[in-house]
Formats: sequence, structure tokens, C-alpha cells
Amino acid sequence: MSFTLHGIPVSRGIAIGQAYLIAPAALDVAHYLIEPDQIDAEIERFNAAQVAVAAELEALRADLATDAPSEMGAFINVHTMILNDAMLVQETFDLVRTRRYNVEWALTKQLEILGRFFDEIEDEYLRERKADVEQVVERLLKALAGASTTASLIAHTAASNGHNEMIVVAHDIAPADMLQFKTQAFKGFVTDLGGRTSHTAIVARSLGIPASVGVQQASVLIRQNDLIIVDGDHGIVIVDPAPIVLEEYSYRQSEKLLEQRKLQRLKFSPTQTLCGTKIELCANIELPEDAQVAVEAGAMGVGLFRTEFLFTNHKDQLPEEEQFEAYKRAIELMNGKPVTIRTIDVGADKPLDSMSAGDGYETAPNPALGLRAIRWSLSEPQMFTTQLRAILRASAFGPTKILIPMLAHAQEIDQTLDLIQEAKRQLDEAGIAYDRKVQVGAMIEIPAAAIAVRLFLSRLDFLSIGTNDLIQYTLAIDRADNAVAHLYDPLHPAVLNLIAYTLREAKKAGVPISVCGEMAGDPTVTRLLLGLGLTEFSMHPSQLLVVKQEILRSSLKAFEKPVADVLAAYEPEELQAALARLQKV
Ligand code: PEP
Ligand code: MG
Repeated sequence: MSFTLHGIPVSRGIAIGQAYLIAPAALDVAHYLIEPDQIDAEIERFNAAQVAVAAELEALRADLATDAPSEMGAFINVHTMILNDAMLVQETFDLVRTRRYNVEWALTKQLEILGRFFDEIEDEYLRERKADVEQVVERLLKALAGASTTASLIAHTAASNGHNEMIVVAHDIAPADMLQFKTQAFKGFVTDLGGRTSHTAIVARSLGIPASVGVQQASVLIRQNDLIIVDGDHGIVIVDPAPIVLEEYSYRQSEKLLEQRKLQRLKFSPTQTLCGTKIELCANIELPEDAQVAVEAGAMGVGLFRTEFLFTNHKDQLPEEEQFEAYKRAIELMNGKPVTIRTIDVGADKPLDSMSAGDGYETAPNPALGLRAIRWSLSEPQMFTTQLRAILRASAFGPTKILIPMLAHAQEIDQTLDLIQEAKRQLDEAGIAYDRKVQVGAMIEIPAAAIAVRLFLSRLDFLSIGTNDLIQYTLAIDRADNAVAHLYDPLHPAVLNLIAYTLREAKKAGVPISVCGEMAGDPTVTRLLLGLGLTEFSMHPSQLLVVKQEILRSSLKAFEKPVADVLAAYEPEELQAALARLQKV
């Protein structure tokens, strides 16, 4: 039966392919039927999860303090017994074999059956053992999810020759997991959760393949291998499309390819407006190899290298040498064009592996307002200095700038500059070369930083507006939360006036300023940003040519009046009318 789901468009284009479901780590597991020849593999998955949980329980036992109450040991014994109990294990296998349920489905079904059985027990003590069974099942499901997330997905796709027209469907994908898809040939992404500028969405865009996020219930309603269409321009997912719909989308897909090919012609022309103002277009990258893509897209440099992605997927600290090699690689690939390296921005929706429970991170009441980005770096001065040394060393190999995320306070800027001095001193002492004139800049992504931009202008060499966070913090909208995604509005008068003010002040002070948030790569706001005086844009390489096309058609003089009207408009209709006029001039 054909049906359509609606979400948030995050990466343009149309993808047509078979759904590949990734099991979520939570209890709401994917339900799908398996083929007879998959039964053994499914049981094997269960056995592996059982071994992992047994090891977890043993580790818990080993960690028990000698004076721990004896109930603790007893509780681990009970859980170990349940883990091996035939009522749980054999009956689950039975459901896999006879009904062909995937093992998570079979396991939760069996839990349901056992639950009813426990409810009828008269003895209170025994009845309460139901909670223990639930806890063991939860551990098993987590272990199964761990084994069936990206790692096994990648293994699966590598094994399934010819099945490369696949679209990943998941409850949610962590940005770090998303990164692993870079090497895989998937045609699209659909997730239940996420917002337009969640880091998962940003990485999806960097892969240049269509994606829709915030498609609530997608991972429940879509079944394994369903034929689906992802319309990444409109956030629509069509499941089991009718032949005529399929034909229409195949046609649109080929039209889009044609359009993209036409845009390629713009690659080597200089970027300037009709009135002759030169505009600099740079690229945002997540990994050093992305620099190659940036060069191929015609970027004038890297305006934002999000270094945190080097650190995620790493259990331990990243050694200075490894960091240095990564930064140097990006710099060398850019071949003389400047590379702006942003220091690590972890926290919020980009936790490090080490930020797990017990480190106080998961219990932070509000991670987006907590120890994130530079706040985290300043709380870990040794790790931060290591990163600064690695960046400085790389600066000897080509033009490099250092960019600091999430600054708001004068003392944070001063502390950061002191640590950069310290890193330089250490390199001097060791006789290691670096660019002594390396420029240091700040992201303007907290409203306080925009309003008090003068604090920054007097201390830093350049600024870069991070609109993703500036919008999040101005409007108090979690950028990764689809429940409030409809309120995430780049065109809110407060946001526009903050951007306009920051640009104006920076220009007045003669401090170079760029925009590196997602707005910079959105061709529908290119004219507005140009009209506000922006001359440096940094965006994902896939957006470079569409934005360039818009710039080539722009005449700044004609933008003055409609842009002034946009800034003066507070009523939505007024604002929309002014924007429409701006698009037409
Ligand atoms: C931003 O906030 O706009 C930005 C560019 O940084 P990130 O998306 O990595 O937070
Ligand atoms: Mg940011």
C-alpha cells in the first residue's frame, strides 16, 4: 500500500531505492520479516549479543566493592540466569524460526508473553522478577542495536553485491555514525528525529545525497526493503509508490542531474556580482579528505574545518601527531588556499565517546547550554593546548587560520589567546616551525557575542557568523529537536537584525567577517546576505555553484531598498513581501 510521510528537507535531490532499516538503540525496535536463509544469521546475532551482555554482567561483578551488600551479587546472578533461560532464549529462537520475526521483534514479543505470565503469579517476590527480565531484555536489545547500527550495516552492504540502491531509514543517527557513511554508496537518508541544522543533517548534506529528517514514525512504518522515494527538496518520503508517481520522480531526478551538470560550467568563472563586487566562496569540511572536494567545487579556501569529527569515533584522546597530520593534509590539499581550522566543538549533539555516563556529561541538565565547544576546551587546557600545537605546526605548510567556537565572554577570549601564546612558546622552546602571523578568529554564534561584538573586534583578527547556533540560541530552539523544528526560523526579525548588526560593526572596524552557518549555502537567502554587506561565504561544497549562480545574477545597488524593508519589517506578511521584492529586482 502506498503512503506518504512528511519531514524536514535537509539535503536536496531525489533518491529512489530500497529501505534499509537500522535498529534503534531504544526499546522501540524495528519490526520486519526475515528470509528463511537469514534465520541462522539472526540467531547468530542473538548469540553475539548474549555473549556481550554476559561480559557486561561479569564486568559489573568484578567492579563490586568488597563491602557491597550481598544483594548486589545476587542480583547479578539472577540476571545471568535469566540471560541463559530457555523461556527467554529458546522461545525467542522459535519465533524467529516459525514466524520469521527479526530477532529484536521476537525478543520483545517473548517479553510480552513472559510479562503476562509474571502478572498472574501470586507470590509478590516472584511477580517482581518481571522487572529483572525486562532489564535483561533491555541490555540484549542495546547490544543488538550496537551490533546492527552502522558497523554491521556497512558490513551488510559490502556483502550485498548489487544492492547499492539503498536508502537508510533510522530512528536517529548520531553525527559520528553518519560520518561512517561517507565511504558507502547509499542513495538517501530518512530519520524519525532531527532538525534542519542538527549535525546529523549537516553531515548528510556534506555527503551530497538527499535526506529528510524529523519524519516521525518513519522507522516504524517503513519496512525493510520497501521501495521508497526521498524528496530531499520537500522533506517527503513516498513508500511503495504507484507506477505513475515513480515515473514522475524518475523524470524529476534526471532533470535535476541535468541542472547540476549545467551548473558545472560556472566552476571556473570568477565570483562577482553584476556590479563588479568580488565575493569569496569557501567550503565547510568535516574531514581532511573533504578538502579535495572543496578544491574540485572551486572553493577559494576552507572557511570552516569542523575538527571535532576527527575526535568522534575515537575512544581515547587523539594524539598531537595524528591531529597534526590531519590538519597538514587538509592544508596541503588546498594547495596554497587558506584553511580555517576551528578548534574542537564537542558537546550538545556531538558528544565524544569519553563523554559517557559517569563523566557527568549525560546528566548535564541542558547540554546545548552546558560545557560545549570552547567552554569544554578551556576546561581541558592540556587537550586544548595539544590541539593548538598541532594546528600551529600544520600552519608551517600553508596559509592557516584558527577559529574558536562559542565564545561569549571577554575572559574566555583572553584565556584562549593566552593558551595560543603558550602553545607558541612551547613550539619555540622545542624549535618547531609555525606561522608566527597565524590569524585567530571567533565564531559569532551566541546572541551575546553578536550584541557585544565590539569585545571581539578589539581582540581578534577575523569573525565568522555561525547562523546555526545563532538561530538556536536567539530563538531558544534546540536545532536537533524536530518537535520545535517549525519554530527554527532563520528569517525571524531578531535573527536578521543580529546578523545585520554584526556585519555592520565588523565592516566599520575593518575586521574581515564571513558567514559559515547553513544560511551561507542556502540560495534562497543569498541576495539577502549580499544586501546586508556579506562578501565572504563558507558552505558545504555541494552548494557552492547554486549560490554562485545567484551571486552572478545580483546587483547590489538594487538590493538596498528591499533589504532595508526586510530589516524594518516585524510582521511576517510585511517581511515576506519585502523578501519577494528582493528576489525580483
Ligand atoms: C554554526 O553554528 O552555524 C556553525 C557553523 O557551527 P556548527 O554547525 O558546527 O555548530
Ligand atoms: Mg555552531
